[in-house]
Amino acid sequence: MERPGAGGINSNECENVSRKKKISEEFEANTMDFLVDMPFATVDIQDDYGITDEPQINSERSKEKERIKSDRVKKRKPKRKDYQPNYFLSIPITNKEIIKGIKSLQNAVIQQDKRLAQTMVRDGSFHITLLVMQLLNEDEVNLGIDALLELKPFIEELLQGKRLTLRFQGIGTFKNQVGFVKLVEGDHVNSLSEIAETANRTFQEKGIRAGESRSFKPHLTFMKLSKAPWLRKNGVKKIDPDLYEKFVNHRFGEEILYRIDLCSMEKKKQSNGYYYCESSIVIETFSPGNSSMTFHTRHFCICCL
Ligand code: C5P
Repeated sequence: MERPGAGGINSNECENVSRKKKISEEFEANTMDFLVDMPFATVDIQDDYGITDEPQINSERSKEKERIKSDRVKKRKPKRKDYQPNYFLSIPITNKEIIKGIKSLQNAVIQQDKRLAQTMVRDGSFHITLLVMQLLNEDEVNLGIDALLELKPFIEELLQGKRLTLRFQGIGTFKNQVGFVKLVEGDHVNSLSEIAETANRTFQEKGIRAGESRSFKPHLTFMKLSKAPWLRKNGVKKIDPDLYEKFVNHRFGEEILYRIDLCSMEKKKQSNGYYYCESSIVIETFSPGNSSMTFHTRHFCICCL
């Protein structure tokens, strides 16, 4: 993101006063535009810097008024978010049967309410989020890549050469705002939770801010209302369960864990619809029924994903 007014202020001391005033006004305007986009935009900047519109009258009444006002401001002021995840560990969903099932589900929803087309997760970007984190610069991204590489042997040790099969069946929502395909509970989901925990620890040990306050709930998102915020104004405030009724017991299929990607939430997606990846690991498993226990590895190139 371009910084407000960066490079836009000419510090030449010979400039006349009116030019300086104009620049200062433009700078202020740009700064305000920028702040409106920030998470703390709701904080009253005037209050923050002790600037008030009222003259300072030294009386008991005005002191009392100030106290009430300051209490009100304290209550109103939201907590400043300095932890805003911008990267995540993704398990891509590649099984064509699952993708076909999700597309049928999405089409069924859209047929009932065309406006919801805007809320659908695009083809190519279906995934399971294992961990979210904040990486603010190239050095931190490199730390993230190192952590991902360190995670690989941990996962392989945990799986002991066995495949981790994720089975998908039925529909769930987060507060009727996010629609997802559920994972069938069982040993494999427990292993996935262990992997998520190990990932969290591995990244945090590198000094990376990672994880969420809520517990890990693996899910495969197919729609989210936040993709079309204008729908709220048109009365669409919840995902109506009737819309996905036919799929509540649908078996979508299985995905075998074979790759984990470190993806950006903000960088432009790849042409195939999948997220921008900084790095990936491939989980090696023993080929089933192979007595010589040779490793089963898929080689790939990130740009071909
Ligand atoms: O991980 P994914 O991108 O599929 O998440 C989709 C949405 O679900 C996100 O907006 C996330 O904040 C939300 N979510 C949630 N509760 C969870 C996990 C994710 O509301 N436990």
